[in-house]
Amino acid sequence: MIRERIADNIYWFQSELYAQVTAGAIIGPDWAILVDTLAIPDETLEMRAFIEEKLGVQVRYIINTIYHADHTFGNYFFPGATVISHVLAREKILEKNQQTLENAQEQEPAFKRINKIVVPDITIDKGTLSLQIGKRNVSVYPTPGSSPDGISVLIKEDRVLFAGDAFLPLPNIIEGDVEQLTNTIRLISKLGLENIVQGHGDVILRGEIENAAQSNIDYLAKILKVARTAVKHKDPREVIEAATVDQCGKSRVLLTGLVVELHQQNLIALYQREKLALEK
Ligand SMILES: [Zn+2]
Repeated sequence: MIRERIADNIYWFQSELYAQVTAGAIIGPDWAILVDTLAIPDETLEMRAFIEEKLGVQVRYIINTIYHADHTFGNYFFPGATVISHVLAREKILEKNQQTLENAQEQEPAFKRINKIVVPDITIDKGTLSLQIGKRNVSVYPTPGSSPDGISVLIKEDRVLFAGDAFLPLPNIIEGDVEQLTNTIRLISKLGLENIVQGHGDVILRGEIENAAQSNIDYLAKILKVARTAVKHKDPREVIEAATVDQCGKSRVLLTGLVVELHQQNLIALYQREKLALEK
């Protein structure tokens, strides 16, 4: 696990074992807010030890930015915490994550340390949930597009945004919507932020935000164009295979190379959606 202090009493954690998934902690005088957990139990426990033993505060709230198992499995290790998510994330956690856990346990015994799926206690829908921690004001609000249940966490005084999967080195739209995600990325880029904590990958610094946002918006436009070309082509597979990550303006080494597969899945998902739209 990699750990860094982003601002006074704001920490960022990144998995070294799974998809560079990230989590964050906002430390108050008496308790802490956690933003997501790390996928692998050992790493979540390492993060917990740092917060509870080294910094000496208990986690009172966990905000799950998305339902995905790699962000939420670790809820289990904070039995005293109240978990917050989007209402749709809660539904998906209930619907899917037990099976995901059982599959993970079959493949990797380390997941047997998780005895149950912890479901969010408090949900948000369209509005903003505000929390005060010490002198800081924290806003939790929807940032859909990568997934309909995506939410972000803004620490107003520090201009730090935990964006979850709304901001990634390579956008993920397998469950998402290109236009909605483009809009979300644009809105995020205009917030005047010091840092964006991506759901996976590294922290984006102020001077990098504009380029990172534009790169993601360009990528989304490009893959939409590829999907629309593929739908009209006699051999869609050929069009999709020709549109490599590099062709679409991104580096294949991002997220330790995982982006190659993610990119393929993006294209296939978009192609199928465009095909369906055309048939209607
Ligand atoms: Zn994710």
